[in-house]
Amino acid sequence: MIFSPPAHDCSLCPRLTSFRTENAHKFPDKHNAPVPSFGDMSASLLIVGLAPGLKGANFSGRPFTGDYAGDLLYGTLLKFGRAQGQYEARADDGLTLIDTRITNAVRCVPPQNKPETSEIKHCLDF
Ligand code: SF4
Repeated sequence: MIFSPPAHDCSLCPRLTSFRTENAHKFPDKHNAPVPSFGDMSASLLIVGLAPGLKGANFSGRPFTGDYAGDLLYGTLLKFGRAQGQYEARADDGLTLIDTRITNAVRCVPPQNKPETSEIKHCLDF
């Protein structure tokens, strides 16, 4: 089965689409869109987060990038040889993953960081 990434304006989850739009008005210079998975599709290790953090992945556009969770995760991946380069908390820092892929169960930031079951089901297609 081939999974394609969601469209930048995916609207399958009305609640999340509305929250995204709200954030795009508040933070116009940030990503505020579905956050694509990071790393090769054929990787042997898949790391699955729940959802993008409001000021982390939702701002930067890369999973676990820009908040404390990312400091921990990417530091650990670098330490154990699962990443190379330098983690600088931004999507264009040049960091690459080694045989590892990172994704989120829902690609769009949810209010209070709590996605609903229906939203997780919608995003499974991606
Ligand atoms: S969470 Fe996934 S399915 Fe829902 S709107 Fe975002 S990209 Fe689309």
